Amino acid sequence: MVRMRKLDHRKALVLFSGGQDSSITLAWALERYADVETIGFTYGQRHAVELEARETVRAALRAAFPDWARRLGADTVADAGGLKDLGETAMTHETEIHLAEDGLPTTFVPGRNLVFLALAGALAYRRGIGVIAGGMCEADYSGYPDCREAALRAQLEAMRLGMDADFEFQSPLMHIDKAESWRLAERLGGARLVEIVNEHSHTCYRGERDARHAWGFGCGTCPACELRAKGWAAYTARG
Ligand code: ZN
Repeated sequence: MVRMRKLDHRKALVLFSGGQDSSITLAWALERYADVETIGFTYGQRHAVELEARETVRAALRAAFPDWARRLGADTVADAGGLKDLGETAMTHETEIHLAEDGLPTTFVPGRNLVFLALAGALAYRRGIGVIAGGMCEADYSGYPDCREAALRAQLEAMRLGMDADFEFQSPLMHIDKAESWRLAERLGGARLVEIVNEHSHTCYRGERDARHAWGFGCGTCPACELRAKGWAAYTARG
């Protein structure tokens, strides 16, 4: 009989897109785990800025936090390009960003987080990493069903069974809104971390990085920018 593979739960693999939420999740993991790796995905995104932001955020964290620099390990970029081939969305094609008939924004890529988690699991399994962490959030999001905790928990259970490995899933932002996640960043790394995430993380669906707002770079009008601006305003208004 095959015995369940024992993974090391002092090690974490962070799903890291270079966005605000995954950057804060990476900081959270660096504070908590002895070894932290990151994984990102190419899936035919329209904009490469997201992937560039990953490098910048990692480098800035290393430079500003020596303890974290010692813990931050390899970065892997995996190809999930099949998602683009299977259908048109505003993330991968020149489709207008709006709410579709099903109530979901056209930026929704069906199954994306499920695929990302399975691929992260494949890497974590090989590396013996027990914890998979992601910045998914169901408190303050665009309605993507694969950001919901129930879907992610079920996916992790499928991975535990399908790979016979004792994966653990952590999503520290799941139940907090964007303002609270900025407060979490502040607790983790003070004003310096807030500044790094604000300056270098990338959220905008249009890939816009020319205009700098109080809340960071972005077009200011896409749903991702609106959410980010709203969260920053709530965070800074707290006094
Ligand atoms: Zn935008």
